[in-house]
Amino acid sequence: MSLVTTPARALAVCSVCAGTRVTAITMTLTDGSVVDFASCHTCEHKSWTQGGAPLDISTVLRKATKTKVAR
Ligand SMILES: [Zn+2]
Repeated sequence: MSLVTTPARALAVCSVCAGTRVTAITMTLTDGSVVDFASCHTCEHKSWTQGGAPLDISTVLRKATKTKVAR
């Protein structure tokens, strides 16, 4: 039986205001990328990460946009 009962998302801390009222969700974008989205309730800072690496919002939007590949 594992003693590790604290999910990683419960440890989310805002990188801007260091607040702990952060909502973190994981979602899959259109291109199949699994990303984590965190939203701070204190300062409304939002951040995206993929595998722990920060993602630029423009990258997220590009990934979330269905791309028709030209033949
Ligand atoms: Zn914050």
